Amino acid sequence: MNPVIALVGRPNVGKSTLFNRLTRSRDAIVADFPGLTRDRQYGNGRLGDKPFTVIDTGGISGDEQGIDAAMAEQSLLAIDEADIVLFLVDARAGLTPTDEAIAQHLRVNQKKTWLVVNKTDGLPEETATVEFHALGLGEPYPIAASHGRNVTQLIELVLEPFPEPSETEAHPELDGKGIRIGVVGRPNVGKSTLVNRLLGEERVVVFDEAGTTRDAIEIPFERRGKPYVLVDTAGIRRRKNVSLIAEKFSIVKTLDAIKSCNVAVLVLDARTGLVEQDLHLLDYVLNTGRALVLAVNKWDGLESEAKEKMRTEIKRRLGFADYADLHFISALHGTAVGDLYPSIERAFKSATAHWTTNRLTTLLQDAVKEHQPPMVNGRRIKLKMAHQGGSNPPIIVVHGNQINQLPEAYKRYLINTFRKVLKVRGTPIRFEFRSGA
Ligand code: GDP
Ligand code: GDP
Repeated sequence: MNPVIALVGRPNVGKSTLFNRLTRSRDAIVADFPGLTRDRQYGNGRLGDKPFTVIDTGGISGDEQGIDAAMAEQSLLAIDEADIVLFLVDARAGLTPTDEAIAQHLRVNQKKTWLVVNKTDGLPEETATVEFHALGLGEPYPIAASHGRNVTQLIELVLEPFPEPSETEAHPELDGKGIRIGVVGRPNVGKSTLVNRLLGEERVVVFDEAGTTRDAIEIPFERRGKPYVLVDTAGIRRRKNVSLIAEKFSIVKTLDAIKSCNVAVLVLDARTGLVEQDLHLLDYVLNTGRALVLAVNKWDGLESEAKEKMRTEIKRRLGFADYADLHFISALHGTAVGDLYPSIERAFKSATAHWTTNRLTTLLQDAVKEHQPPMVNGRRIKLKMAHQGGSNPPIIVVHGNQINQLPEAYKRYLINTFRKVLKVRGTPIRFEFRSGA
């Protein structure tokens, strides 16, 4: 699992600026927790070969009442999920009573904490940090988030104790233990109910409640003689013990489960309809390249009007994921839950299929014959050959001349053609276009 860095500090010290610099907003995912007033932001960054996750928090003002209390709670939850805390202070504002209050919080925390002095641009390093020694959190580290000054050096130091991830962590592949299924979704959609169903009713599994809140639990199991591994983010609970739902939900754990599974089952809730966080999670699954099965849960006892509304909403807002199988299920009653398996199998098969260069090149040439690429500067764009560059998700590399001029519409035509002819279902396909053969 990636090291997780939480950014804390009072408002305006530059947390979001640092967050954006570290993640470049590429894989950033916004988490909006129901019932909480301010969002935490989660993003992934990378330093050399070391990936990491960053959490930006609403901030702590030191006067924890009302909205500030909720923000402070966000910070505390973020600290809980993190391996490392970067406590940001502002060199221009100088040391404030709020900084002291936060430092007090942090001193009792067990997490490795770095005192980071931001906005040191244009200030001499020694004097910029000197007053912050008083916080009793060790040597202050000067940076300028908006200019990038010292930021890479800081992250290098921070990540030093963490080893580079092994290849298998970066690319989950079959290791003989079976398809890795990640059951993901926001709190309360019915993940743990579904996990219990998937594992089979007769099997009463009670897991150690004292397990860390952060790590997803991996449960190997067999169904009809086939091995699978379930990556569970909800934490299997005894039926009666469902009061800790919100606390048990961890975004870091969810993102990690998505990265480490072969097929993600994204659980949606027919009772509440789609919400932003569903779309963020879906986005994350797609960006990660994971195979996908959609499960609309709590389908039991719904009026036909409500069903129709949910169907329409899915078509309208999830149209971009229409290559994924969609199931309407009731985890509570077990209805249609068994249908998930064929979809999981098919998605996995598509995601890990191998095609020969010969097959892909023939397919490319047929597609070109059917529909020529356009002329550019009086010369026709030539597509020559295609080969496979990876799997889960499948990557198809197309070589040709003037290929960087290939219009988006034509790329879409190729993607759709390949998807149809190769019968790829349930996984994104990535295309790379390269000049020359
Ligand atoms: P947050 O509330 O802690 O997330 O703070 P922001 O990232 O929103 O930054 C607050 C203000 O400080 C913004 O106007 C930033 O442009 C500015 N700021 C952030 N980092 C730096 C820095 O390194 N130097 C200077 N001079 N300003 C900065
Ligand atoms: P999780 O937080 O995603 O793991 O959700 P849980 O599995 O704990 O379920 C949240 C609530 O939804 C519980 O009260 C469940 O009994 C209920 N629930 C789960 N699945 C269904 C379903 O298919 N139909 C109905 N009506 N309720 C369900």
